[in-house]
Amino acid sequence: MVKDNYKLIYQEVIDTARKCGRNPEDVTLIAVSKTKPLSDIEELIQIGVEDFGENKVQELTDKYEHVSKPVRFHLIGHLQTNKVKYVVDKACLIHSVDSIKLAKEIQKEAVKKNVIAEILIEVNVAKEDSKFGLSVDEVIPLVEEIAQYPNIHINGLMTIAPFVENPEENRKYFRTLKQLSLDIKSKNIDNVNMNVLSMGMTNDYKVAIEEGATMVRVGTAIFGARNYNL
Ligand SMILES: *Cc1c(COP(=O)(O)O)cnc(C)c1O
Repeated sequence: MVKDNYKLIYQEVIDTARKCGRNPEDVTLIAVSKTKPLSDIEELIQIGVEDFGENKVQELTDKYEHVSKPVRFHLIGHLQTNKVKYVVDKACLIHSVDSIKLAKEIQKEAVKKNVIAEILIEVNVAKEDSKFGLSVDEVIPLVEEIAQYPNIHINGLMTIAPFVENPEENRKYFRTLKQLSLDIKSKNIDNVNMNVLSMGMTNDYKVAIEEGATMVRVGTAIFGARNYNL
């Protein structure tokens, strides 16, 4: 059952945080419900889960409109500029901002909807060709630019680490992202905070927590394998 899986992972998150001397309350477990039915989300809402992750705009907005109780939907997937208008007032946090062009569109649509868009900057720390996100060197200039957009609030950084057998192989990438967030924090840029580090998935969330993750995004371990051919 999805709720039993969730409870197990939630306990693992708490135990991992405690073991490395962190406060478990500083780590949010995001249940990544992409491709999964609303009934799975409802099962978790029943036990008080409030943070869900989706990677497609259409799926996020559909679920947003149909849940029985308001919960937070995080947009964790790549965002195309032409879809910003549908999601800017529905996602609680956009984890995947990686260009000025996208930020400009978010600013424009946030004004229209009269909201402040909460965002993270996505960093492709491992430099994988297949992934979106900025290279480490590009992050500070982009943060400094977006900091000037009045309807966007930068809350931190996000990365998707490579799929590896041994999660230890990703530790260096999580460490790099944490260091980058500290470097940015030390600049004290107005309208920017670095409170959020979104990193770690089913295979590597424990290592990510040890390296400072404040949000882990777990799908498979909670909902089971995804079938993209449905
Ligand atoms: C699908 C997805 C996840 C969850 O991955 P699992 O390995 O199933 O836990 C996390 N983050 C992002 C950005 C995703 O697209």
